[in-house]
Amino acid sequence: MRSRFKKLLGLSALCLCSYFAVTTLLFTMQAKRSALTQTMDDLPILPAPKASSRPLIIAPHPDDETLGCGGLLAMATSVGADARILFLTDGDGYSAPAMFLAGQPPSPEDYRELGQVRRREAQAAARELGLQSSQVRFLGMPDRGLMAMAQSGKEYVSPYTQLDQYAGRPYRLGAMIEAVAAVIVDYGPTEVYTTHPLDDHADHVAAAFVVEEAMRRVKSRGLLDQECRMIYYIVHRGDWPQPMGHHPELSLLPPKAMVDAGYQWAKLPLTPEALAAKEAALKRHQSQRTVSGKFLNSFVRRNELFVLPEAEPPKLPALNSVIDGNPDEPVRLVHQDPSDDDAARRLQPGADICEVYAGRDKRGFYISVKARGDMGPQCQMRVDLIAFDARGNETRTTHTFSALQTVRRKNGVRAASRGQWFEARIPISTKPGQALYLQLSSQIVGVKVDQSGFVRLPD
Ligand SMILES: [Zn+2]
Repeated sequence: MRSRFKKLLGLSALCLCSYFAVTTLLFTMQAKRSALTQTMDDLPILPAPKASSRPLIIAPHPDDETLGCGGLLAMATSVGADARILFLTDGDGYSAPAMFLAGQPPSPEDYRELGQVRRREAQAAARELGLQSSQVRFLGMPDRGLMAMAQSGKEYVSPYTQLDQYAGRPYRLGAMIEAVAAVIVDYGPTEVYTTHPLDDHADHVAAAFVVEEAMRRVKSRGLLDQECRMIYYIVHRGDWPQPMGHHPELSLLPPKAMVDAGYQWAKLPLTPEALAAKEAALKRHQSQRTVSGKFLNSFVRRNELFVLPEAEPPKLPALNSVIDGNPDEPVRLVHQDPSDDDAARRLQPGADICEVYAGRDKRGFYISVKARGDMGPQCQMRVDLIAFDARGNETRTTHTFSALQTVRRKNGVRAASRGQWFEARIPISTKPGQALYLQLSSQIVGVKVDQSGFVRLPD
């Protein structure tokens, strides 16, 4: 009798467990499905270009312009709009296609030849999208070198092409910003499109920073309409876009982690003609198709996606110092970072940045960072602070801290971490009118796991 009772009890427990498991599974599946459909239905529509539109697409590499904005460009030229493309680099530092073209480990000459090939491909793609070659410009900056230039401020030599300048313009951040500013002034765009600061490719992150600062300068000099907006597109983020491959019947959905982090997306439904032109343009980027054709095809979808400039991180209450920075004023949320959307970020929750808070007073600058999990001893946080005055002169400071170490330096630098939190106080003298940018990056044994992009701090 007793054993029969036990059996019955075990059976009921099993049924209960199964019920909860199935319910949880169904709930998760439903939540995921509804998140996807909601995302697409709720997205506002980006107005299609008009004849009077003057869109300027700034692309870090040849192919980014077509992947992110090919349909938009085709729709713009089809209504008679004067559209332009500016390529920051020639994509001349990508070893896989250079090796494919050279048939051997590439030499500096092979990398330079790849740059020429990619320029010709970019011009052919632009023609498919309805642009003349005079509407396309190349800045000749070093592929895979934009972040190093942004983080050092010094002159840079490409380890691929061995070049240190293009057309007399040195490979240096200040010169690059001014060159982009000159193109913007020369053209007078109504909108400027560039890659999002949370793109995974370091050149794309740096491009967002360079374009934002160039726009700030030309607006502050009165050389650009204040109404001209900066709109972002994204190319690389974790395993996005899903499903990979050629699915022109599907919609392109935003990376879910970026929707969750509060970024405001908009969709541009493509006309069948624009989609066909985009697909034809992508085929012109032949050197890229040989190494990542499936990825390129994943952007042949019914719509393109953009992040609108009004996007602000959700307003959260101010936070008091949690560890050691002891700021006089509480820090405020300045950046909300998508998390858990990439294998490296999943494996290292302590280096997966979630929220960045910042505050300033006369003595310096305070920062509090919340990660998704506890920071381990191998985790390092790098803080880059860059300030520009009205003339573009730079003041910069960079610090790298090991988590779980309390730092007290004579120059006033303080840092500490506990659990999910990292906090630092960094003296930097900024004057009124200076633009201050912060970038935070996390590393595990010297390998980058996550970065915030360059966040412009409120004045
Ligand atoms: Zn790119």
